[in-house]
Amino acid sequence: MPSVFIKTYGCQMNERDSEAVAAQLVAKGYTLAKSEAVADVVLLNTCSVRDMAERKALNKMANMVGIAKKERPNQIFGFMGCMAQSRGQELIDKLPDVDLVVGTQKFHRTADYLDEILAGRRDKIVDTAAEEKSEAAIREHLLNGNAQKSVSAFVSIMQGCNQYCTFCIVPYTRGEERSRTIDDIVAECRDLVSRGVKEITLLGQIVTSYGKRDIATTNGKSAFVQLVDAVHEIDGLERIRFTSPHPKGYGDDLVEAYARLPKLCESAHIPVQSGSDRLLKIMHRGYTRERFLGIIEKLRHARPGIGISTDIIVGFPGETEEDFEQTLSLAREVEFDQAYIFKYSPRRDTPAADMDGQLSTAVKEERNERLLRLVNEIAARNYEKLVGTQVQILVEGPSKKNPARMMGRTRCNKIVVFDGSDRHRGQIMDVKITRAGSFTLYGDPDILE
Ligand code: SF4
Repeated sequence: MPSVFIKTYGCQMNERDSEAVAAQLVAKGYTLAKSEAVADVVLLNTCSVRDMAERKALNKMANMVGIAKKERPNQIFGFMGCMAQSRGQELIDKLPDVDLVVGTQKFHRTADYLDEILAGRRDKIVDTAAEEKSEAAIREHLLNGNAQKSVSAFVSIMQGCNQYCTFCIVPYTRGEERSRTIDDIVAECRDLVSRGVKEITLLGQIVTSYGKRDIATTNGKSAFVQLVDAVHEIDGLERIRFTSPHPKGYGDDLVEAYARLPKLCESAHIPVQSGSDRLLKIMHRGYTRERFLGIIEKLRHARPGIGISTDIIVGFPGETEEDFEQTLSLAREVEFDQAYIFKYSPRRDTPAADMDGQLSTAVKEERNERLLRLVNEIAARNYEKLVGTQVQILVEGPSKKNPARMMGRTRCNKIVVFDGSDRHRGQIMDVKITRAGSFTLYGDPDILE
């Protein structure tokens, strides 16, 4: 059977989609190649969130088809995901040696389309049409052979987004919000737990909007909280996380779930994007700075020590020095454990791309630098405070930077590296933190009190 290599750009949703496609191909008998140089089929799962990500994927494909023409004339090439969705046929017009383009509602068709191309029944296939129930088609996992994944798995609970933030291309590439049923998701989680998974991360573009259209609020609990409750019931599951939520989704029912559900880890990645109310409004975020700060306060009250991370955009069109100062002051006030900072990148067909007041690269870089320095200083202080404390970790496998050591994650989502061995994999264990590095803690399981 042919071998396939999938290269993934972008977010965790894309990683999860690629994993499901790979698992579907393996189930059909394909093997997974270690690199594009030895694969019969190469698929790029693309991201459109930033212009740079699109350019990288286009350049990569142009480069690969160029080499293949000379060295591997029978190699098959395909684009999947967000850029495939937004550009469709245009990708083949631009790169005529590409064979397949599958959009974001068609991942599950990839295996059949490849069969048809490899059998010579079809030449080029472009499919970016909407498909009902496609949100429930991302379900297969590749647990075997990947140590990390056999301990911790991501489960896609919904697709799409209805928020239409003015800077974001996702609602156009992923479509309207569509949610799987609670029973379907719980069945997938149960199966994963029966195969050794201890931690599940519920995944979606805007997970807190899960089931809004289809599942009524019951006893004050939103559909999302009902789902978390149902997953929490699974025997053998130790930890639950979710990403990405929207601040709007942090009602009292969700805050209260943190106090009520011991398996729900005390960590929250809540994208704030800006500390300026003026910009939050123009970004169409749907909350104010005060509302965001109120959520953080409630969460910290419900779960003291909760790890809080965020996403922030710098250099949004029209961002004044005063707006940016508001973001700096919000970062000081919240003291994020981690913040992912993005320099604003105009995306075609989004309202922000045509707004007045586009800022220069120099201004964006300077603000990025200042915010990064602040966030790193605060995070370093927070990490340092953990030295000498005892934390619980779930051991995922060898450390990526130093495979001779093992790594696990605290409940508040911090990486801990320690001297261990394969027998620790999958274990929940206590370690004493002996040292803090840059976004990494170092621990020793042998010096517990
Ligand atoms: S909530 Fe906003 S930023 Fe997030 S995916 Fe939806 S439109 Fe994009």
